[in-house]
Amino acid sequence: MSEQYVWLVTGSNRGIGLELVKQLVSSPSNFVIAACRNPSKASELQRLVDSAEGTLRLVALDVSDMESISKAAQEVSGIVGDKGVDYLVNNAGVNPGGRDTAFSMDVNILEEVFVTNVVGPAYIAQAFSGLVEKSAKKTIVNVSSTLGSMGADYGTQCTSYSLTKAALNMLTYKEAKEKPEITAISMCPGWLQTDMGGEGATHPVSVGVAGIVKTVLSLKPEDSGQFFNFKGEKVPW
Ligand code: NDP
Repeated sequence: MSEQYVWLVTGSNRGIGLELVKQLVSSPSNFVIAACRNPSKASELQRLVDSAEGTLRLVALDVSDMESISKAAQEVSGIVGDKGVDYLVNNAGVNPGGRDTAFSMDVNILEEVFVTNVVGPAYIAQAFSGLVEKSAKKTIVNVSSTLGSMGADYGTQCTSYSLTKAALNMLTYKEAKEKPEITAISMCPGWLQTDMGGEGATHPVSVGVAGIVKTVLSLKPEDSGQFFNFKGEKVPW
């Protein structure tokens, strides 16, 4: 594992997370930890493990469960040792409120979506910070959305989800400010054809994910605290 960089991807059993794992394991430079709620039921990931020649490990991690996060951090520490985690990708996310609006949204859903999209990534960064800090690349990627950007001005739609991504963006900013040795960014993957993005999304998931990987690999320390899209462009806050 000495020549490799360690990636950890949450929510890796389908959608953007699964595609990230597929693209990352295709390069010998990467050692990938695919975290998902239930590895024993993640059949596509299990098939990838069989063909990945030791460069892919599956770890159970439910981002809405603090105990699960702590257990996963311990397990990952045992796998990677002193190499740490070079790229921590907080990808898992949900949008149970759909296209809800400020005056009609169900605030119970707002609470639920905050746990997965904000509290989870916040605690994961805390639980894995030691592993990130001992790595060579020391990078945290918070998978956000342009829907969480006020500058993008998307109007009334998807309010509960947008609130969580705006909060996640502030988390990125705070992480970058507090620990200058870490490169923390927010990343909008584009509107991609996944269960969440739907069939009508503008880009196949492979295109967005290739863009994410390219952008993350070209990050410099001075990019920390910024919001990028999958084309490597800066997104307004
Ligand atoms: P999908 O709905 O296709 O997949 C969501 C993934 O998150 C699944 O692997 C799911 O696992 C996982 N997940 C959800 N809740 C949890 C949890 N509590 N613990 C662990 N894993 C969980 O979504 P996408 O792949 O499209 O989205 C991935 C990320 O990209 C999200 O953060 C999303 O907000 C963001 N995004 C997506 C866009 C798009 O167009 N697709 C656009 C902008 C941002 P399980 O199978 O167990 O439910």
